Amino acid sequence: MQYANSILDLIGNTPLVRLGRTLDLDAGADGGPLVLAKVEYLNPGGSVKDRIATRMIEAAEASGELQPGGTIVEPTSGNTGVGLAMVAQQKGYKCIFVCPDKVSVDKRNVLKAYGAEVVVCPTAVAPEHPDSYYNVSDRLASQPGAWKPNQYANQHNPRSHYETTGPEIWEQTDGKITHFVCGMGTGGTISGVGRYLKEQNPEVQVIGADPAGSVYSGGSGRPYLVEGVGEDFWPDTYDRTVADRVIEVSDADSFAFTRRLAREEALLVGGSCGMAAWAARLVAQELAAEGRTDAVVVVLLPDSGRGYLTKIFNDEWLAQYGFPSGREADHRTVGEV
Ligand code: PMP
Repeated sequence: MQYANSILDLIGNTPLVRLGRTLDLDAGADGGPLVLAKVEYLNPGGSVKDRIATRMIEAAEASGELQPGGTIVEPTSGNTGVGLAMVAQQKGYKCIFVCPDKVSVDKRNVLKAYGAEVVVCPTAVAPEHPDSYYNVSDRLASQPGAWKPNQYANQHNPRSHYETTGPEIWEQTDGKITHFVCGMGTGGTISGVGRYLKEQNPEVQVIGADPAGSVYSGGSGRPYLVEGVGEDFWPDTYDRTVADRVIEVSDADSFAFTRRLAREEALLVGGSCGMAAWAARLVAQELAAEGRTDAVVVVLLPDSGRGYLTKIFNDEWLAQYGFPSGREADHRTVGEV
């Protein structure tokens, strides 16, 4: 019989799948550079963040920061929350997530479904107000038995990628990877994977993809709509020496490409995936123009498109922000094929 003892044993070892028509590479020349997507939505919690959740919790258990029966408190409602809630459920910890009231009910319900508690704070109060997001999470995290993973500073975040994601990519490509492309939120993925790959072969090029406006691509932190990536500050989990290049991607390109991935590659993935894959396509096209048909580009796709059905995959939502409506974009795509 083949089975896992716990859902946690199924984290990682995600597959690589070849990208095809969305790269818009000229036919011939042996098909151009090979571009492989690492499909992280196949993790049991649905995202790359399952990896850091396990590693951060296991490290806190080992150091004694998290004791049996303890409570995990983190101000997040996204993928890290799901990963933490899943691991906490299996290991018997209580989990409290603090999120602002603008976070969708669907996202809160995912966390509650795993048995976590969600504390919703009003957005309309000043940071110093006792009910503010910051004050509530600090207060809960200072209770006895509480532990805050703090994914933006916890070095076990990049370490989990150094120990799992990086080695997986190296082995899956038989050490032939030449370029690694990845978005940056906490910077944990690019820092851990990038460091591991460069230690194996210093020639591997590490390329960040970043929303226009974010600090990683020289912006001031001005708003953008793609979720989970880009920052308005430099997190401790980001190694500033790791990226050889950062490619800035607009929301419009990120969203249009996210939709193309679903329609043309049957990859229903999130907006930060469209952003990273758009950057990988640019890299592949440059390599093709240089005749580097032997290049192997790996792009990491962090999560699934299921969490964005009412946004990126909704024509009205796109139109509301002035992006080409989904239908126009779809027609244009069909016309190009
Ligand atoms: N995409 C999504 C959807 C995410 O949730 C995150 C994590 N914030 C990232 C990309 C970026 O990963 P990292 O934090 O490791 O830089």
